[in-house]
Amino acid sequence: YKRIVLASRPVGDIEPNTFRTEKHPVSALVPGDGEVLVQVTYLSCDPAQRGYIRDVRSYLPPVQIGETMRAQGLGVVIKVGKGSTLNVGQTVTGAFGWTEFAVMKEQHVDKITVPKGVQAIDFLNTLGMSGLTAYFGIRDICQIKPGETVIVSGAAGSVGSVACQLARRAGAGKVYAIAGSPDKCEWLEKEVGVDRALNYKSKTFYSDLKGIGYIDVYFDNVGGDLLDMILTRLNKGARIALCGAISQYNATKPKGLQNYLTLISQRATLRGFIILDYVPEFPAAIEELAVALGDGSIKRKFHIVDGLEQAPVALPWLFAGKNDGKLLVKVSDE
Ligand code: NDP
Repeated sequence: YKRIVLASRPVGDIEPNTFRTEKHPVSALVPGDGEVLVQVTYLSCDPAQRGYIRDVRSYLPPVQIGETMRAQGLGVVIKVGKGSTLNVGQTVTGAFGWTEFAVMKEQHVDKITVPKGVQAIDFLNTLGMSGLTAYFGIRDICQIKPGETVIVSGAAGSVGSVACQLARRAGAGKVYAIAGSPDKCEWLEKEVGVDRALNYKSKTFYSDLKGIGYIDVYFDNVGGDLLDMILTRLNKGARIALCGAISQYNATKPKGLQNYLTLISQRATLRGFIILDYVPEFPAAIEELAVALGDGSIKRKFHIVDGLEQAPVALPWLFAGKNDGKLLVKVSDE
């Protein structure tokens, strides 16, 4: 079977030599007590993976050279060890990594049952880390009051598109989106239902931004210059949810904020959050999101590439906006 390991730590962008494919016999994968063997069907591509290969202090330890690249996945149990309570054929999610097969401790996988109107791959998107990040970011960090104006960056992506829709459900008066292409903006306005989507690559972007007036809530997926620009557009008491800073993940010298004094003059709050702090609340949130997905009131889009070997090719797309929707790697048939 194939697995892809970290070969060297990139400085700046991910390079072709950042990862290396290895082949190992499947027979070496024998689940022990309380373990299961999983055949991976899909892997999630996440901006956070750039952080996992950086040797710095973060919320998870860095992936070491020679280790299988960390990734969240969807798979099927194909063999169970002694004492396992899972059955062969059970669909599960877990941090399987960039591999075709993985031996996992049973407590490190989540059993999933796919509700009506929902697909198994939604558990790597709206019903997985992406949707949950939007859910808790909107609920706890943004604390939207009825009628407030909300703006979301990285809005056409997996977290951002759910954040736009949940902001609306939370009572926002106006929901504005920021994305990097006319097609993405059109999808946001027509399908996702934002009031207006602004293309940050457009020459008129800053005047477009000023045109929408001051904002109460910024759900920030991008950081850097865009965050700095939005700091100049805050209403009094504004909240900024620092979800991510994708514009900075490949940067060798991250950008500093120039306009942070508006946080003082506008009595505004800038607050980061990490989804892993909400694990106990996941089941209830997944149930709520599954209902909205099932009845079609939450829209989503997937961008699927085929074959494990495409994972290192596809991951950098996230940092160039080449993905159009939740980026997944299909590893095998469900
Ligand atoms: P997306 O599906 O949104 O894909 C990334 C998108 O970011 C790209 O498609 C691109 O869209 C946009 N982008 C890339 N580079 C830039 C740039 N320099 N400036 C502006 N936009 C850029 O990814 P996710 O939804 O998975 O992740 C979104 C954010 O959420 C990330 O910052 C991630 O780190 C964060 N996150 C945070 C979590 C937490 O616990 N705090 C958990 C999960 C995710 P475009 O074409 O519009 O430029």
